[in-house]
Amino acid sequence: MNESPRTFQRLLVDRSACAGHGLCYSRAPELLDCDEQGDPVVVPDELAAEHLNAAEAVVQSCPEQALSVESRVFQE
Ligand code: SF4
Repeated sequence: MNESPRTFQRLLVDRSACAGHGLCYSRAPELLDCDEQGDPVVVPDELAAEHLNAAEAVVQSCPEQALSVESRVFQE
């Protein structure tokens, strides 16, 4: 039996635009961590409802416009 499609949001980092200064993971450690080079790594595969506002805030705070929130449709 087919389930209805499910929409979810996830946070994305555009590595070609990122300057790697770490503002995002210092402001939103629940959403972003850093790797050994100091580059940001998104923590959750998908954004929980309680993290959507924080995700939008950190997207707005990135001076390089390297972060975005993407909506995906997932068919189970
Ligand atoms: S704030 Fe933006 S430019 Fe700076 S490390 Fe995070 S994603 Fe990269």
